[in-house]
Amino acid sequence: MGKNKLIMEVGEMLDKYCDGCFLNKHFRKELGKTHAQSFCIKNCSVGQKLKEYGEKLS
Ligand code: SF4
Repeated sequence: MGKNKLIMEVGEMLDKYCDGCFLNKHFRKELGKTHAQSFCIKNCSVGQKLKEYGEKLS
């Protein structure tokens, strides 16, 4: 997948799944941003995909 396509995919996933995500809001409030991110990456398939795409883009 090209970089532009990856960026589009990431944007679409954020809009579709992460915007207004209850879990993320909850963990941010209770545990802080870092823990919320860590939850996303470890426990959510969307977060894992975003991490994978992020690594490809960096
Ligand atoms: S990665 Fe998963 S848990 Fe995290 S904000 Fe997105 S949808 Fe919610």
